[in-house]
Amino acid sequence: MSFVRRKFLTGAAAAGGALAAPAISRAQNRVVLNWKMTSAYGKGSPFYMDGPGSATDLAKRIREMSDGRLNIQVFGAGELIPAFEGFDAVRAGTVEMNHANSYFWTGKAFAAQYFTAVPFGMNFQGINGWLYDGGGIDLWNEVYAPFGMVAMPCGNTGVQMTGWFKKEIKTVADLKGLKMRIPGLAGKVYANLGVDVKVLPGGEIFPALERGVIDAAEFVGPFQDRRLGLQKAAKYYYTTGWHEPATVSELLINKAAWDKLPKDLQAIVSNAAAACNVISEGWCQKANSDAMEDLKKQGVIARPLPDDVIKALRAETNKVLAEAVAKDPLTKKVHDSYFAFKSKFDRWSEVSEEAYHVKVRD
Ligand code: CA
Repeated sequence: MSFVRRKFLTGAAAAGGALAAPAISRAQNRVVLNWKMTSAYGKGSPFYMDGPGSATDLAKRIREMSDGRLNIQVFGAGELIPAFEGFDAVRAGTVEMNHANSYFWTGKAFAAQYFTAVPFGMNFQGINGWLYDGGGIDLWNEVYAPFGMVAMPCGNTGVQMTGWFKKEIKTVADLKGLKMRIPGLAGKVYANLGVDVKVLPGGEIFPALERGVIDAAEFVGPFQDRRLGLQKAAKYYYTTGWHEPATVSELLINKAAWDKLPKDLQAIVSNAAAACNVISEGWCQKANSDAMEDLKKQGVIARPLPDDVIKALRAETNKVLAEAVAKDPLTKKVHDSYFAFKSKFDRWSEVSEEAYHVKVRD
């Protein structure tokens, strides 16, 4: 196509045609932007860095849709900066974008937790309803405004798994003293129940679990967990993740750089991110269905946590959230918006999606 266009322009320009001038002037004024996007996940990490809806797929879609006007070079964790320094790098403008999860930044702004996943919170459908149509994205940007950044969802794992445990969990007491990799608010909840919480980047989980530096770990779901080899380091796989019912990937953008983007490129970024949000979740359904079958064949013991343990985790989650809300008005504002939406969504879900799965589906 570019050959045809060049040939046309050359021919038209040579002929001094009236059409040539604006066409050539557009070509000469074409501005190509080269941006950098870092990730909290290592190069090649499935879902986050590789595959449909990943950071590299997002950059490819933006490059294609903008016809090469916005080129985003993607860096895995450790390639340009360490895993969890994306927030500071985007804030400083060292890089224009970071691809991760907002719950890594709760030390900077606690309310960031709500834009990734809230324990016992909303599923993929609910969180998207809140983010896109219930004011969630506006609140996300309000939380980041003091840092000079904007954000949007760009991926979702769907419900995650509770995680891998070397020993069976029969009662709440079994959690006491357990060394576990678990980020975010769920980490605080476990800590209150006596767990020694560790926040390790994805790449460090397997060696730590295998060597016994930690006794338990959550990462994502069957496909990604199997890729890390976690089934070789622990045999109990606790299922339905109470802690992350639908984990949102975050596209974090330096606001000054965003404001300078032409409107069409802003639209391309927003639409590519929304596409990746859906496409990545679809991919997870396929990849996890296959991987779960395989893990069971490998002898993994997959089961939900006992009801009493779930009950204790829920009670502790409510306490942790209440404390956070009491401390910070912006957290309260986000919390109230999230739970007002959830309350209506739950009532709707009871007669729609949930009812379908419990009462109608074979
Ligand atoms: Ca996780």
